[in-house]
Amino acid sequence: MKKKNLFGLTLTELENELADLPKFRAKQIAAWLYRRGAKSFDEMSDLPKDLRADFQTRYEIGTPELIRQLDSADGLTTKFLLKFSDGAAVETVLMRHDYGNSVCISSQVGCQMGCKFCASTLKGLERNLTAGEMLAEIIFVNDFLRGANQKVDTLVVMGIGEPLTNFDNLLKMLRLLHENYTLGLSYRKVTISTCGIVPAIRQLIEEKIPVTLSISLHAPNDKLRSELMPINSAFSLREVLQAGENYALATGRRVTYEYILIGGVNDTEEHARQLAKILAGQLANVNLIPLNPVDERNFQPPSHNSIQKFFHYLNTHKINATIRKEMGAEINAACGQLRSKWQGAGDKG
Ligand code: SAH
Repeated sequence: MKKKNLFGLTLTELENELADLPKFRAKQIAAWLYRRGAKSFDEMSDLPKDLRADFQTRYEIGTPELIRQLDSADGLTTKFLLKFSDGAAVETVLMRHDYGNSVCISSQVGCQMGCKFCASTLKGLERNLTAGEMLAEIIFVNDFLRGANQKVDTLVVMGIGEPLTNFDNLLKMLRLLHENYTLGLSYRKVTISTCGIVPAIRQLIEEKIPVTLSISLHAPNDKLRSELMPINSAFSLREVLQAGENYALATGRRVTYEYILIGGVNDTEEHARQLAKILAGQLANVNLIPLNPVDERNFQPPSHNSIQKFFHYLNTHKINATIRKEMGAEINAACGQLRSKWQGAGDKG
C-alpha cells in the first residue's frame, strides 16, 4: 500500500490524520516538517521511538531530492534542480539581494503556454505541482539557508509553469506559507508572475490575498503579442490590462508589467511609444528584461543601446520602468533552461 504523504498538510489536516493522538503531536510534527528540516521520522527526537517506527510504516515525507546545484560566479544566485518521487524535475532559484533572500519557485512540471522565447514550454506540460510540492521547494531553500543562520525572506512564483492555471494548489500553498508553523510569510512578500489568465486574476482579487502581481506583457500590440504568446488569442491585451488595473485598484498594489526585450522584435522606439500609450495612467511599473537566449529558439538579445533607449523613452513618458538585473545567466537561471538541458541530455540520474 502506498504510504500517505504528510508533507504539505495543514496543521488541522495533520490533527485530523492523527486524531487518535494528543493534539500536540501534530504540532510537533508540523515543526519538524516545516521548520526543523526533518527528512525522516527517525530524526523527530521528541516523538516516542515506537511512534516514529509506526509512522515509518504508514507515512512518508514527500520532499524532493537535489540532483544539481549551480552557483553563480558572484555567489549571489544558486540554482537547484529538484526531483520529486515520480521523477518529475523542477528548478528552484535562490537569489541573495541586498533586501534579503528571495526564492523563485516553479509551479508546474513543464508548461503548456507555448511562449515562443521560453525554454520551459519546449516539451509541454507534464503535470501540475501540488501545494505541498511548491511548499517543499521553499522549505528546501529555507533549510539550505539555515546552516548560514539565514532564511527565505521573499517569494516569487516565476519559475517553470503558469501559476494561475494551477490556481487551487497555488492558493493552498500561499495560505500554508502564511501560517506561523511554516514560514509565517506575509502575502506582501510574495510576487506571482502570470502570462495573463484573466479569469484567474479576477479570482485572485476575490480571494483577498494581497500578493504582488506581475504580468508578462512582452509586446505593446495584439498582433505581436499573439505571435510571441499564444495565450493572447484567448485574452487580448486590452482584457489583460483591464484585469491588471482592476487588481491594482482592488489591492492598492502596483502591478508590474514584465517586458522581455528581444533584439529586432519588440525593442524599437515605436514599441516603446506604443507601450507608454497603453500603460498611461495605470498604477504600474514596467520591468524590462533583456532576453536570455534559449538554444532551441531563434531570438537574439537586445543591444545595450536599444535597452537604454527603450528605458529612457518610458521614463521620460511618465512610465515607471526598471531594467532587471540579470542574475545567474551563466548558470542557466533563466526559466526552464537547466531542466531543459538535463532532459535533453537524457540524464535522469
Ligand atoms: N508563466 C508565468 C511565470 C513563468 S515565466 C509568466 O508567464 O509570467 C517567468 C518570466 O520569465 C516571464 O516574464 C517570462 O516571460 C520570462 N522568460 C521566459 N523565457 C525567458 C527568456 N528566454 N529570457 C528572459 N525571460 C524569459
